Order: sequence, then structure tokens, then C-alpha cells
Amino acid sequence: MIKAIVFDLDGTIWEENNIVHGAVELINQLNSNGIPYAFLTNTTSHTPRYLSSKAKALGIQAYEDQIFTAVSHLELAIEKIDTDDTLFVVTGEDSVLFQQIAATGVSAIDLDTSKGEQLAEFSQHFSKVILISSFNRNFSYKHISKIFSIRNTLNEYWVVGNDRCYGAKGKKLIAASWITAAIEEVVSLNHKPFGKPNGETVKIVAESLGVKVEEVLLVGDSEYSDIGAASNAGALSCLVSSNSSIETKATYVVESLDKVVQIILDKVVQII
Ligand SMILES: [Mg+2]
Repeated sequence: MIKAIVFDLDGTIWEENNIVHGAVELINQLNSNGIPYAFLTNTTSHTPRYLSSKAKALGIQAYEDQIFTAVSHLELAIEKIDTDDTLFVVTGEDSVLFQQIAATGVSAIDLDTSKGEQLAEFSQHFSKVILISSFNRNFSYKHISKIFSIRNTLNEYWVVGNDRCYGAKGKKLIAASWITAAIEEVVSLNHKPFGKPNGETVKIVAESLGVKVEEVLLVGDSEYSDIGAASNAGALSCLVSSNSSIETKATYVVESLDKVVQIILDKVVQII
């Protein structure tokens, strides 16, 4: 029984700056049938506000409060812990993740722009130090060597949006997971994941849509992130893949987004 739909964005609704065929019609169908929907993306380099305006420009109705990023999941986790004496050391592309974390009011330092000695000295003044990483195309040996200098003061290692790949089918690029593997090697800590495939992130979206997680259909193009997250959360899932021989845990598999409409109209239970 499906009561709400959650869509991945990159590679599912759009591919870079191009809308995927069938996406506009699909969202229009949901709106005209009163079916609640939201978007769940692992991006850490764009805010819901930016993504909402991008969606609008591409012809999709997606209000800011319908868009959840891996950072939305992280912000909720930060709200739940006592951060008075905690320092967050953050690395992410173009400092966007750092700015979003600093905006929550916690003590945070940008790994990318800070000097190694400054970082080591600053981290001594906190009883807890949490390193947070995400995808960063500029991540290099310099970053690793700064992390190495504070490895003994680190208490936890968090990763936001630990994807293996990003981009559209046919031109997928390596995403954050290699950075995670390199950092784990240096700090001897296992990472705590935020965003997909952590099932918790799907539960947060389900709650905001006012449905049970098992009533959510998560539609995405990544077996690892999207179908993994749905499966970990106990939600239903639909993999959009042109590879018909793909091994998947998804409830449904379709070759293109325009085929999703039928599944939804067949299985959905309207709540209004
Ligand atoms: Mg995707």
C-alpha cells in the first residue's frame, strides 16, 4: 500500500541541468491526484532552497520543505546531542557543508581552509572532536595529512552522503566513498553515515509526509544509495534502470521514469 512517493533527484528527476523525460508529467499526476511526495538527495553542495529553485526552473513543483538532503539528516542529529564542548571539523566541496553546519550555531572549523597547526591547537580546547566529511572534488593528500595531525584528538567520524558514484547513467563519476575509505584508514574510526543508504533518512521524510515508512515508495537510480536506503528503512522501492539484468533488492524495476506513473496509480491509496 503506497501513500507517498519519495524521489531521488540526481539521475532520477534530472541529469545535471536537464529534466528527465516523464518527470514533469509524473509530478503533475501526483499533484492532480493529491498524492504527497518529497525529494531525498545525498547532495551536500546545494541547499534545499537552491534545489527548489532549480526544480522550478526545470518545470517541477518542489517546495523547499519537500526537499531533504543528507545535511537535513545531519542537522537533526546535531540538534539531538549536547554540542557545548564539541568541535566539528568539516570538509566538503566549496565549504557549503561547513557553512550549513556553522549556521546551526555549533563550534566548527573548515578543514579545507584551516592550517594544520591551527587545527591541532584549536582542537585541544574541546572535550569532543567530531570529523565530518562529504564529497569534495578537491580532496587531496593535504587534507589527509591535516586529519592525520588531529587523529589522536578525534572522537567520532561522520560522513554525509557516502555515495559510490554520482552523475547520470553512462557517465558516472566516483563520489564520496573513496574519501571515506582514505579517512577511515588514517583515523582508525568507523564512520557514522548520514543520508542514503542510512534508512533513518527515509524515516525522517516519511514522518514529515505524515505516513508510515512502509507506505513510502522511494524512486531512484542507485541500487546502493536509493534502494539500499529504502530497504534499510523498510520502505517500498522502485529502481529506474535501463539495465534489465541488474541485481536489485527493489520492489519494482522500471526502465524509465515515465513507467513509474502506472505503478503509482495502481498501488497508491489516496489520503485526501
Ligand atoms: Mg541518483
